[in-house]
Amino acid sequence: MRLTRRAVLAGLGGIGLAGAGARPPNDPDVVVVGAGSAGLAAATTLQARGVSVVVLEAMDRIGGRAFTDSTTFGAPFDVGCAWLHKADHNPYTDYARANGFQLQAHEYDLEKVFLGPQSVEAALVNDAEEAMSEAISAAPSDIPASLVADVSTPIGEAAGDYLGALDMAVDLDELSTFDYGAADDLAPNFLCAQGFGSIVAHRGRGLPVRLSTPVRAIRWGGPGATVETDAGAIRTRAVVVTASTGVLASGAIRFTPDLPVATQDAVADIPMGMLAKIPLLMDSRRFGLEPFTDLMLARRGRRDLYFLCYPFATDLMIGFVGGDLGWELSAAGEAAAIDFAKQGLVEMFGSDAARQVVKGGLTPWASNPWTRGAYAAASPGRFASREALGQPVGDRIFFAGEALAGGLIQTCGGAWLSGERTALAVAATLAA
Ligand SMILES: Cc1cc2nc3c(=O)[nH]c(=O)nc-3n(C[C@H](O)[C@H](O)[C@H](O)COP(=O)(O)OP(=O)(O)OC[C@H]3O[C@@H](n4cnc5c(N)ncnc54)[C@H](O)[C@@H]3O)c2cc1C
Repeated sequence: MRLTRRAVLAGLGGIGLAGAGARPPNDPDVVVVGAGSAGLAAATTLQARGVSVVVLEAMDRIGGRAFTDSTTFGAPFDVGCAWLHKADHNPYTDYARANGFQLQAHEYDLEKVFLGPQSVEAALVNDAEEAMSEAISAAPSDIPASLVADVSTPIGEAAGDYLGALDMAVDLDELSTFDYGAADDLAPNFLCAQGFGSIVAHRGRGLPVRLSTPVRAIRWGGPGATVETDAGAIRTRAVVVTASTGVLASGAIRFTPDLPVATQDAVADIPMGMLAKIPLLMDSRRFGLEPFTDLMLARRGRRDLYFLCYPFATDLMIGFVGGDLGWELSAAGEAAAIDFAKQGLVEMFGSDAARQVVKGGLTPWASNPWTRGAYAAASPGRFASREALGQPVGDRIFFAGEALAGGLIQTCGGAWLSGERTALAVAATLAA
């Protein structure tokens, strides 16, 4: 869904505003970098406290990694987040219900598993994953999860891939036991018929967002800060930075003076993981699968593929690949990824299966310069870096986003809560 309402601002020719009545102030108290879930929450919270704010967004739409594409497949497809995790505490649940979005409870315990061409009892993998989860969470030190996970059997290896690459977006050897252990249990989980991205877009309407306005530099040496864009500089008292750790690590935003070494190290210690979706639009034959079936094709050597089959009334089988395989297929490109997913179908359902694919796609989070990955995972031994990244710099540069979402790290709801928390800290600092 494209939200852009193109508008021309005085002195900012060709820059879009996200929503009617959202003319941003020229000298705001706070500049928020990024109009994803965290940035929208920060702006909403600051406005509610009477603090003037401008959100600068590099892309031509709001939502960031929350984005529903309703055109490509003739049905809503969540390019980024889809599940409202921990729905009984998720800041989007009540909002969605109050605004007419259709939610449906859907856990992602596996219902069908193939080990290569062989169908096996899904409960075996679910049980192995639960045991692995307990072992990783009980690890007494912050080490790679691969050191405590039993992947010696094909079932164990499948469980490890489902837990690591396909959930945390990193393979087990790159997963910190403490990072995993500190993350909340995400049940209950809901899906949204209109797409999670649509909920986020709806919630961000009317906020003072300047679209297509990448922040190139932030100068914070004097009192306050100056935020530089291609359309000019903005003076402000404080900046909330919600760009992903991948974007921060890339140097796309130049900080002058440099950020403190502790902050730079923290960014490097919480790199982006990869989860890529390979949506397949299928013809009407359905391999006997019920809508919403969670299906996994597990293969030795971390070549695993998960499908969410036919959610709601769609003809979509949404493939997922994560971790190193996610990066590899993203680099290989859309045609190769679709081919990979088709081969998976053939392996499970026979040689005719590939012919049932009408159209496919590949999500672009690896190559998008404004995300540079799916979501962040602390490196083994580096769990404490999350706290270091959360420290404000000079009482005027504040960070927020999914990497700083406490128990809800990596999630869209967690990003909202992080944005809200950070905005309250900013408001308190400005009032002091
Ligand atoms: C494939 C995939 C599946 C996922 N599945 C789920 C799920 O099912 N449930 C769930 O809860 N979460 C899921 N997530 C994670 C969730 O989408 C993210 O955690 C969340 O949306 C991140 O929000 P954020 O505000 O922290 O960051 P972002 O959404 O990345 O927002 C940051 C914004 O900053 C902008 N920006 C970056 N640099 C600049 C700059 N220099 N100047 C201006 N703007 C800039 C970006 O364009 C972006 O819009 C998934 C993510 C992916 C990629």
